Amino acid sequence: MLKRKGLLLVVSGPSGAGKGTICKELLQKNEQIKLSVSATTRKPRNGEVDGVNYFFIEKEKFTDMIGKGEFLEYAQIYDNFYGTPKAAIIECLENGQDVVLEIEMQGAKQIKEVYPEGVFIFVLPPSLEELKSRIVGRGTETKEEIDKRFSCAFEEINQIVNYDYFVVNKDVKQSTKEVESIIVAEKNKVTRYKNNIIEKFKEEL
Ligand code: 5GP
Repeated sequence: MLKRKGLLLVVSGPSGAGKGTICKELLQKNEQIKLSVSATTRKPRNGEVDGVNYFFIEKEKFTDMIGKGEFLEYAQIYDNFYGTPKAAIIECLENGQDVVLEIEMQGAKQIKEVYPEGVFIFVLPPSLEELKSRIVGRGTETKEEIDKRFSCAFEEINQIVNYDYFVVNKDVKQSTKEVESIIVAEKNKVTRYKNNIIEKFKEEL
């Protein structure tokens, strides 16, 4: 069997583009892929569960974790901090398990610097108009938050240059299939196997 490290999939996109829904669908269809649970100082929204959606922690604990180097990346978004706990991810990747991070662009950029072999995927909305109606329709943010998120969207789309792939999310099922195709292509990259492929055939000589 050819061995490789797990894929680190980094999925970003403006609020309302649908990256969360795509990741959810991807995980439902592919049980072997693991979702990284981030830590945040934001308060839980209705229905969100600690340890499932996020690890909801106080700012003091977050700062302490930064000091101890426990995050792979972290960022301040709007008024809150968000970060990816490092240890669990490194373990998965070393064991050949694929991991998805659903994070915003500042964090993705930090990861690209330390882990360029990650797979960076940007989810785009079909249009800005559609994006706004999705954020409003979701009904989880206040009017002020909606305006703030929408006004950032175009700026965020400019960050697409730091990504390897994009998916235009018109339809979640189709977008998820596209992400799955990206995963297949990435898994068949020769460079991910170092010399394992040659070694494998050499053994058979
Ligand atoms: P929300 O508050 O809507 O759950 O998330 C706000 C933004 O933070 C989203 O774009 C989400 O992808 C991003 N985010 C969630 N977890 C992390 C993380 O660990 N690191 C970074 N950099 N962004 C995150």
